[in-house]
Amino acid sequence: MPITEVTILRRCGHCRQELGEMTVKKDNMRLMVSDLVWCDPCGAETPEVREIAGRQSAVAAEQASYPGNPPVLDVSAAEYRRRKGRAFGA
Ligand SMILES: [Zn+2]
Repeated sequence: MPITEVTILRRCGHCRQELGEMTVKKDNMRLMVSDLVWCDPCGAETPEVREIAGRQSAVAAEQASYPGNPPVLDVSAAEYRRRKGRAFGA
């Protein structure tokens, strides 16, 4: 069953204090935001940082965060396995 909702943690961009969390539909997920958020420990408005709660979805978040810069190592490893499988299959 596919995951359609993800929990996103909102953190202070300066001190990494967790400022709350929210659940959003995966399709509406936005991790790159330029919003300022009030942080009590900092006593100031700071750039908000978002990350996905949970390990498996964190990888997807990484990839979604850098669309122009895919994680080369992961892609290579997957490609390698795929090609290896095809070579033996053909
Ligand atoms: Zn802070």
